Amino acid sequence: GYRSRASYKLLEIQQRDRLIRPGMQVLDVGAAPGGWTQVAAPLIGKKGRLVAVDRLPMDPVAGATVICGDVYDDAVLAVCRKHLPEGADLIMSDMAPNMSGIASVDQARAIDLAELALNMAQRWLKPGGSLLMKVFMGSGAEELRRALRRDFKKMVVRKPEASRARSTEQYWLALNFQGLAQEGLD
Ligand code: SAM
Repeated sequence: GYRSRASYKLLEIQQRDRLIRPGMQVLDVGAAPGGWTQVAAPLIGKKGRLVAVDRLPMDPVAGATVICGDVYDDAVLAVCRKHLPEGADLIMSDMAPNMSGIASVDQARAIDLAELALNMAQRWLKPGGSLLMKVFMGSGAEELRRALRRDFKKMVVRKPEASRARSTEQYWLALNFQGLAQEGLD
């Protein structure tokens, strides 16, 4: 069975957009407890590569490399990068901050995580690659949308049934990366 309800959100997005395909190199950011990793591993198959990172420990998933660490730590990013030597076809981030209960603080932290995911995409995505990320609507979301529009040909908003209860949460799927990530691979 799946480790988290989050699996059903990704399955729903996958059913509609077919973003995960055999042979892909995928980075799953904020992966614990591993629901998305469980969905993605069989879809990329043996020729694909799947790296899952979270600051919380997570049980292994067959077909995935699990890295325990905080993505604000450059050393952790370097380890992720090493496991994706050719860059990534897809970066997916379901990251969410620990909620403090102070709405403005939580929103700022959530947007900061989304910007970090975008930054990883800008550096590591192959041309034509995709970025799927959770975004909490509110302050900062509009600027983030503009940044995504600059770097990707297409951006669509997905709101899976499985996430309806969380009213401000959306998933943004940015397609066809236009940037020059390959220039300064690090
Ligand atoms: N997609 C996962 C699944 O299907 O099981 C659920 C992810 S959960 C909603 C959000 C995750 O983001 C948490 O496990 C949390 O530890 C992680 N996270 C938040 N901030 C992080 C950071 N700075 N570095 C690494 N992981 C982080």
